[in-house]
Amino acid sequence: MAESIAFLHNVEKSYFTAGGTVAALSKVTLEVGHSDYLCLMGPSGSGKTTLLNILGGIDRPSAGEVFIDGQRIDTLPERDLLPIRRTKVAYVFQEARLMPSLTALENVLLPSAFASGDEKQIRERALALLEKVGLEKRAHHLVHQLSGGEAQRVCIARALLNRPALILADEPTGNLDHATRLEIVELLEDIYEEGSSVVMVTHDPELARRARRKITIRDGRIEEQEAARLAIQD
Ligand code: ADP
Ligand code: MG
Repeated sequence: MAESIAFLHNVEKSYFTAGGTVAALSKVTLEVGHSDYLCLMGPSGSGKTTLLNILGGIDRPSAGEVFIDGQRIDTLPERDLLPIRRTKVAYVFQEARLMPSLTALENVLLPSAFASGDEKQIRERALALLEKVGLEKRAHHLVHQLSGGEAQRVCIARALLNRPALILADEPTGNLDHATRLEIVELLEDIYEEGSSVVMVTHDPELARRARRKITIRDGRIEEQEAARLAIQD
């Protein structure tokens, strides 16, 4: 547990709705190591997003324990949780969630209040990240001038600004064509190779095969866990 960036122990999550109680997660125990690369698969409604949100401290479990980087977080008050979430965890969503009135660079700089370094260094890092995702020429373009794949790459650059140890990606390639999907996954693999951990939800078995670990969730339970060989050099 001390070696893990995230650890769930016997996590349960129920939603209470007018229609009754929905058990979204049942007895989920999962360890994400430092420098781990894990794919999460499972049918729609099986609990993938719920699991990701609990891993990242966005949502709280109904029962069980959640640790980030060795620290128990599910019992922390929101004000103590926020700085952990903002410095250690970053999200990439299915649809690029960017501020339309801002440029690509300004979007990457949005989490900069929590970045280390002075303003100039942070700006240089943001530009370097845009270069890393192949968008240095788009830094000053507004979001609506970008393609879907480019917008998603801006999101990844933004996710990396604070050097998070854990990247959570919820179907990050769901809306993209095949070639662009591969580009996005290769970027996430670079991040993993540089020492962060990546947990990615995907429906694409070809992408899941490339991960170090593959986990399937069904009806809120982890069903199988197989070690897959890394195939990044393919
Ligand atoms: P997935 O991401 O695998 O599609 P989710 O984690 O989004 O699945 O949802 C798991 C289950 O929990 C589903 O049955 C869903 O309807 C239910 N659920 C998710 N969020 C809520 C919510 N805020 N309120 C009530 N039920 C929810
Ligand atoms: Mg989902």
